[in-house]
Amino acid sequence: SADGGWTELREPTDDVVEPAGPAPIVAVVGRPNVGKSTLVNRIIGRRQAVVEDIPGVTRDRVPYDAQWSGRRFTVVDTGGWEPDAKDRAAAIANQAEIAVGTADVVLFVVDATVGSTDVDEAAVKMLRRSAKPVLLVANKADNANIELEATSLWSLGLGEPMPVSALHGRGSGDLLDAILEALPDAPRIVETGPRGPRRVALVGRPNVGKSSLLNRLAREERSVVDSVAGTTVDPVDSLVQIGGETWQLVDTAGLRKRVGKASGTEYYASLRTAAAIEAAEVAVVLLDASEVISEQDQRILSMVIEAGRATVIAFNKWDLVDADRRHYLNKEIERELKRIPWALRVNISAMTGRAVEKLAPALRTALASWEKRIPTGQLNQWLTALVQATPHPVRGGRAPKILFATQAGVAPPRFVLFTTAPLDAGYQRFIERKLREEFGYEGSPIDINVRPRK
Ligand code: GDP
Ligand code: GDP
Repeated sequence: SADGGWTELREPTDDVVEPAGPAPIVAVVGRPNVGKSTLVNRIIGRRQAVVEDIPGVTRDRVPYDAQWSGRRFTVVDTGGWEPDAKDRAAAIANQAEIAVGTADVVLFVVDATVGSTDVDEAAVKMLRRSAKPVLLVANKADNANIELEATSLWSLGLGEPMPVSALHGRGSGDLLDAILEALPDAPRIVETGPRGPRRVALVGRPNVGKSSLLNRLAREERSVVDSVAGTTVDPVDSLVQIGGETWQLVDTAGLRKRVGKASGTEYYASLRTAAAIEAAEVAVVLLDASEVISEQDQRILSMVIEAGRATVIAFNKWDLVDADRRHYLNKEIERELKRIPWALRVNISAMTGRAVEKLAPALRTALASWEKRIPTGQLNQWLTALVQATPHPVRGGRAPKILFATQAGVAPPRFVLFTTAPLDAGYQRFIERKLREEFGYEGSPIDINVRPRK
């Protein structure tokens, strides 16, 4: 595909909390001491822990989340570019070139009190080769006099120098405007208004007990609500109270009237299930605990996971499960649900009401995982340590490197790994497993896309 390394590419859904798509990347490049890290702090507004202060984390390529005028982007700080540099300095220069390679726009920072140097001119050649859009930042323009001197930087051939004082803030608003102008695709930050009830799909093959559970929920909690202020609820949906909270069970009309069974074919049942999953944020997949997990059960689970919904598995008819059945069920779970060890499980009985109250906390946990966001600095700090401890295996004398990662979105959490080459499937699974170990995500699928540098 055009994206090369994208794996498991999924269409973004309509009802994500914020627009899909990774934030574009702004690389900050320039000689040492021109004020790059001061500028990065100015841009991110010091809202995040500065990773360089953490022992063991270098600032070769440190990404941060930034926002301006309601749009998001990622800023990558680099350690300082010097041509013909040796050893440590050469490594840093190389890192800066890598950062430029992954960037959508480059901020080339020059010290306006010094003017352009040979080193700056060499950097310009490197930037030209990269063919990336460049904004020329004349930093340390603390007053009008230096600002005037900064015009001499036109000679670098990168267009109009933008005078900025990273230290005092002068000119930084104009610079941020220019950055956004260069990044027309920077995703907007959506202000979510007061939220209506959470949308839940109750799905499962015929006879697992969906109608029984719906009736139980509606009966247990006398106060079935008709309307919730500020929301429109589809007439085919039901509002029920579970665990002291109102939930919107989507497309339950069929369950109430039991037309699902009358209008028969598995094809229509499956279309209806797909539509309910699509309309929901979280799905409760009912399985009949007294029967073996069937292919049809697996198909429904796959629909939920592929749609990227938060997932709770409810083993219903638990009143029929004796010690013997329990033994076999545990083995079945191990075998049949191996691909989704993260799905939350509750054992309930719609008939007796057993443990039905456990549904609400499970739904809440799954939704919290589904919408969890990890700050870019924290994510990369963790990833750097992980990759150092367990590097990608070497293939043909080379190992792909992970340059850095960002979380591209939530609902479900989606991550982009920028790499030098495609990763082995096994290593990608390793990263997913470790990501879950570190950050949780119980009850939510997560998505990892690998984007090798072109
Ligand atoms: P880097 O090596 O390019 O990341 O540079 P730093 O951000 O560490 O800054 C180097 C020095 O320049 C520090 O002492 C900063 O306080 C100073 N500095 C950075 N920006 C400005 C500025 O806009 N005006 C002045 N006067 N000093 C600055
Ligand atoms: P649906 O097709 O998924 O809506 O399933 P129903 O709710 O119609 O239930 C199918 C059958 O299973 C009915 O005979 C129910 O009485 C029975 N059933 C549902 N839940 C339970 C349960 O928790 N325990 C037992 N023993 N039977 C149940």
